[in-house]
Amino acid sequence: MQTQFANAVTQKENGTRLGGSILRAGGLVAFPTETVYGLGANGLDGEAVRRIFEAKGRPSDNPLILHVAKKNDVKQLWPRIPPIARTLMDAFWPGPLTLIFNRSSIVPDEVTAGLDTVAVRMPDNKTALALIREAGVPVAAPSANSSGKPSPTAAEHVREDLEGKIDLIIDGGPCRFGLESTVLSLVGAPTILRPGAVTKEMLEAIIGPVALASSILSPLKEGERAASPGMKYRHYAPEAEVLVGEGVPRQAANRIARAYDAAEAEGKRCMIFATEQTRAFYTGRQYVIIGDREDPATLCRNLFAKLREYSEKADVIFAESLPEQGEGLAYMNRLLRAAGFHTLS
Ligand code: AMP
Ligand code: MG
Repeated sequence: MQTQFANAVTQKENGTRLGGSILRAGGLVAFPTETVYGLGANGLDGEAVRRIFEAKGRPSDNPLILHVAKKNDVKQLWPRIPPIARTLMDAFWPGPLTLIFNRSSIVPDEVTAGLDTVAVRMPDNKTALALIREAGVPVAAPSANSSGKPSPTAAEHVREDLEGKIDLIIDGGPCRFGLESTVLSLVGAPTILRPGAVTKEMLEAIIGPVALASSILSPLKEGERAASPGMKYRHYAPEAEVLVGEGVPRQAANRIARAYDAAEAEGKRCMIFATEQTRAFYTGRQYVIIGDREDPATLCRNLFAKLREYSEKADVIFAESLPEQGEGLAYMNRLLRAAGFHTLS
């Protein structure tokens, strides 16, 4: 099974049928979603799910998200669906919102890493939905990268990390959002464990106040327990050093330009992730435009691809901070983790 389909990269149409049969047989299929590429396995088969952890080198105490093709499929995964979850599903599914609630007994321990809760979402991507429908089961899927690499936002990234280790990669082109889903716990007061394209503001417009887990913008303190096991890992760690310029755009850009010149004087290869608004500050230095500060979604979409591209070409990457509102919160959460929380202030 593992070798029969190894390395196959197919077009979307045939890919979902072949992918469905591979998943039913216990194999691994990488597939596009609107957030990042996922690495899927039959979410009700503990042994198939274990292969995901092996292929990625993912720590086994970091639970996975189950992906469903219709809202009613949640019924089998949770013992009951609380009214607030219904409201959120109606407002945001299919879409980049993962909901966590108590799990039912059919969910294998491999998925939840032994927790008594399980995370579920319905992706907003035709290929992903067709694949899940073909599989006929909930599909457990983390991001389809090697653990420690930025999440893949194109099929090429999946190939770089996992070729030869999984059965099929379905190429659906570049991902629309480029950062992983918002993770919201509904066990107790609604709490965002990981910010994403469904923002705090969007959630609050529908259900009222939503809390933020403390580790979203700061490292875990000594002895502190992560609300979401994934947050204790330095997930998005590129090889290059990443430094975040803090402050309003002019300040951030000046700090970056100064640190760039100092690093260059030490012989380091430097790269700046500039924005439409700040390019003029970086004249004479190496920079790439990663988006428009007025539209943070553009920065979110490009961040992981650019980290991947430059983490070997550069020794130091400089990036500007964004206001931590709307999608800016998700951007800062990923950027600060990639930077190991190293800022220029
Ligand atoms: P990934 O699969 O890489 O997109 O990451 C999924 C994220 O959701 C990780 O940060 C996990 O730790 C988190 N997660 C998944 N299931 C649970 C759960 N039951 N409770 C808390 N966090 C979870
Ligand atoms: Mg991941």
